[in-house]
Amino acid sequence: MPISSYNAKDLVLFSTIINSATRQKNWESELSDKAVGTKVEEVQCMKIDERLFIACNYGEHARVDKFFQAFGVTNLDTFLQCMRFCHALLKMEHTTKIPSLGRAFTADYSGPEKTACTYAAASTAVTDLSAEELTLIRNMIKKNPTIPVDTQAQRILWAVRKLTDAGVATGLTKPAGSKSLMTKNYNTNTNAINLLNDSLPSHAELKLLRLLTQTKIGASPLNAHQTATIGGIKRACESCARWIAIYVKWIKAQFDVDIELPATDTRTSASGDGDRPKIEKDHVEEYGEYVVALFNGVKNNNFADLPAADAPWVLPAQEEEQ
Ligand SMILES: [Zn+2]
Repeated sequence: MPISSYNAKDLVLFSTIINSATRQKNWESELSDKAVGTKVEEVQCMKIDERLFIACNYGEHARVDKFFQAFGVTNLDTFLQCMRFCHALLKMEHTTKIPSLGRAFTADYSGPEKTACTYAAASTAVTDLSAEELTLIRNMIKKNPTIPVDTQAQRILWAVRKLTDAGVATGLTKPAGSKSLMTKNYNTNTNAINLLNDSLPSHAELKLLRLLTQTKIGASPLNAHQTATIGGIKRACESCARWIAIYVKWIKAQFDVDIELPATDTRTSASGDGDRPKIEKDHVEEYGEYVVALFNGVKNNNFADLPAADAPWVLPAQEEEQ
């Protein structure tokens, strides 16, 4: 399935797998460190054409970067392999682990992660493992696994052992991580899989919409794409949902871009307010004062300076070319 075919539920599932796998372990420490990792607050994914952008709250993307590097994620194929292996291991019932894989391990989905997986149950983006792949994993997590020569195969071996508490193995040292997929903006590189390097206190989905907006404005706008799709581990908080409702009307009126969001989302809304995303005023002021306000970077908890989401956007009159 090409990235352009993914829907919002597919992106919810990816976000959930990334969120859960990243928080399970410290992906920088050696295999001897089996300690449980620390919480990740948010992961959201956005699809534009054949490219995927992943954002987190605060600086959490740096930890996703280490997780991806450990699994050798560099393109769609290695991303999907990582998603499939992690999802299969995280969703496995504890009573199935020893019969199926010969080893018990603690990693599994939390309550909210299970809720997100249930919401995304119609997704076909992450397929089940074959019997051969389950046998491969069983062999990878036994006491003395065969150490492959290929570096990418070594990364998968190391990462699967890390996730399943299988511990150190003779002849296996931590392989060098694959290249970082971190990017600041849409046009910094052309990777299919991208991790948004943005530590500002906006919530993850607003960081993604900031990036989308910057593809449409500025010196060399990239106006080709007319749709974007977003999905995350959590449903947007009430403040972000209100900001997004205003934003989708503007980006449609101004640039004819449709935003697809998780539909009929029955998950409970996330809590807390982040900041509005920030774009320098001189890049957006030609679109009017409300657009400057949308991207002014202030606390995103008061909407008195923005038009109601149910009111039509009045676009500023363009000056006639002489
Ligand atoms: Zn929010």
